[in-house]
Amino acid sequence: MAGRDPEWPSDGGAERRSVSRRRFVGFALLAGLVPGGAAAAEWLRGHRGGPHAPLASGRPADTTRPAGTARPADTAQASGAGQPAGTVHQAKAQAAEARAPALPLAGKVVVIDPGHNPNNPQHVAEIDSLVQAGGFLKACDTVGAETDAGYPEFDFTLDVARQARAILRAAGAKVILTQNGRTVYGPCVDVRAAIGNRAHADAALSIHADGGPPDGYGFAMLVPVLIQNGVTDNSAIIEPSSRLADAFLTHFAAVTGQNRSTYLGVNGIQPRSDLGGLNLSTVPKVFIECANMRNAQDAVKVTSPAWRQLAARGIAESISAFLTAA
Ligand code: ZN
Repeated sequence: MAGRDPEWPSDGGAERRSVSRRRFVGFALLAGLVPGGAAAAEWLRGHRGGPHAPLASGRPADTTRPAGTARPADTAQASGAGQPAGTVHQAKAQAAEARAPALPLAGKVVVIDPGHNPNNPQHVAEIDSLVQAGGFLKACDTVGAETDAGYPEFDFTLDVARQARAILRAAGAKVILTQNGRTVYGPCVDVRAAIGNRAHADAALSIHADGGPPDGYGFAMLVPVLIQNGVTDNSAIIEPSSRLADAFLTHFAAVTGQNRSTYLGVNGIQPRSDLGGLNLSTVPKVFIECANMRNAQDAVKVTSPAWRQLAARGIAESISAFLTAA
């Protein structure tokens, strides 16, 4: 089916040729700012802008100052009141120190892989070169899918990835993008996996939007299948990747209101043995197909800046839930 393989379309069609437990207070805040289901429902009613606007750029200030939450930092600052200036400064410094470790994702490394690359169409020969994908060779990368009106998947993945990065960073995570639209092409699928491996990521996510059958819609999580051969051994990531995918089924769905795919996998999960990005990963990793760009209803979503904000929040909340689970 056209576009079902985010790395390499099987039939040469649209897909070219071509992610409480430790009740992390800070992030609960983040989530609290936008009640997921309600936000999604608003969007679905055609509501645009307004309440969602501040959510896309979650800043540390937003997450460290929850309304009505008294933290040690706040207490320290308060006790400084009325004391000599030096003491006040000292108290403020201590307060700042106390705040940093409180970020819910401090110490966590997340690799986000925006599928494809805006420069791929200009480098067809390079992305068609064959690379190792876990015991077999496949194309370095593909151009990706697009809506019937021509909105490209690589614009969608990059926008959502950048917004998700901002939210996760605000929650304290170190976030690495495999590409930021500035690389000449790709990177190739083997390199995309290697970036997560080298970073010893606690979680890795490849973001895509499918180019499936027009009557199919919804999101799906592509999860690794056990691959053990002379080239790779992903046995250590099967179980945690499955938990990562489950977090998306709960949180991505709640924030975006997106249905589970009607055509990919079963109940939103599709095990895949043909994706180098999963076969070669040594860290917990999943792919998300956020929507079907060839479906009219999903096309409206992916082309909506408001929905892309929700998608980014859904991704960030899913990854955070996975990373903070006991
Ligand atoms: Zn894709």
